[in-house]
Amino acid sequence: MVEPQTRLDEMITSLKEQGHRLTPQRMAVLKILAADEGHPSVEQIYERVKVDFPMTSLATIYKTVTLLKEIGEVLELGFSDDSNRYDGNKPYPHPHLICIKCKNIVDPQVAALSELHQEVAQSTNYRILSHRLDFFGICPQCQEEE
Ligand SMILES: [Zn+2]
Ligand SMILES: [Zn+2]
Repeated sequence: MVEPQTRLDEMITSLKEQGHRLTPQRMAVLKILAADEGHPSVEQIYERVKVDFPMTSLATIYKTVTLLKEIGEVLELGFSDDSNRYDGNKPYPHPHLICIKCKNIVDPQVAALSELHQEVAQSTNYRILSHRLDFFGICPQCQEEE
């Protein structure tokens, strides 16, 4: 995991460079995404921002997240059966591990990732631009509750 303060600074710089305003609500969204505890959904971010900014609307949060996605400062994880989740700590493609019970998402360490890229490229002759690698399982906490 990248130091949340480092990521926050990077996001702020990126937004400013592109001429976007930094409202207090927007800052709150950035802070949550920079720390990325469990890859929140827009709804989860909204619930947390609302604590300090009760007047915030879900649309405002959605707009901020979409803007961050557009400038490459947040990675969107789309799910067909669930709401999308976001990683602002590591805004580039990386493997994820998803608990099918509580829907918690963590970033597992996958040492052989670059070899995997090479293998896929070599066996298909594709030029690999990106990847999406999801593991599904049951987290230790949910295992205890079984
Ligand atoms: Zn779980
Ligand atoms: Zn992640």
